[in-house]
Amino acid sequence: MSRERLYHTDAIILRRTDFGEADRLLTVFTPQRGKLRLMAKGVRKTTSRKAGHIELFMLTNMLVACGHTWDVISQAETLQAYRGLREDLEKTSQAYYLAELVDSFTEERDVNAPLFELLAFTLARLSHLADIFLLLRYFELHILSLTGFQPQLHFCLVCNQPLAPTENYFHFGDGGMLCPEHGQARPHAKMIPLPVLKVLRFLQTQPWEKVADLQLNPQTCQHVEALLLSYITFLLEHRLKSVDFIRRLQRESHD
Ligand SMILES: [Zn+2]
Repeated sequence: MSRERLYHTDAIILRRTDFGEADRLLTVFTPQRGKLRLMAKGVRKTTSRKAGHIELFMLTNMLVACGHTWDVISQAETLQAYRGLREDLEKTSQAYYLAELVDSFTEERDVNAPLFELLAFTLARLSHLADIFLLLRYFELHILSLTGFQPQLHFCLVCNQPLAPTENYFHFGDGGMLCPEHGQARPHAKMIPLPVLKVLRFLQTQPWEKVADLQLNPQTCQHVEALLLSYITFLLEHRLKSVDFIRRLQRESHD
């Protein structure tokens, strides 16, 4: 089968590393081709016309040439610079966090157009919103859903009964909620106050326009943030590694 030699793609720049004398190796996320590693030649020279179009977190339209080891960016034109991200250190660091999550939760060339949309949507809002707390939590819950790690927030994972409006439990390894009876019996299950569970459900199921209007008390905010961060950390340390490992085994057995 002959491979196409050139292709156009939109791409968000997730990561970049210097390569050789004047080149950069970019990790980008695209709607139709998933995550790609692309070579940008000569972009560290002051004369490079491409350089300004492939800054971190930009949404760029690219013409890419298929290469032997890496595909090579032949032309690049900025579609969205998300300038607000660059002028605010706090927002820049949050953009790094979003990019790192996308990088960590995806495999090269696994296509996930909804995740591309989510990232572009979130970067755009991050660049101009004053309060970004809910936006980040919304992103976290949705990237979990879009990559196969959606936590079960409505039923007990042991008895399958709908959760009663009381203090229930969350178990990282099980990937979601447990009723009081099964949660208390399960080592390492974390008690979840009802307001925290309600916020998580709201973030998971409601459109951003509704989420943006939520008013939360600081204690609930803190709890939601800490829970999502520890769950994501758990996944990255345990399940994702085993997924990587299984995929590597599958690939090796096909070679
Ligand atoms: Zn139960």
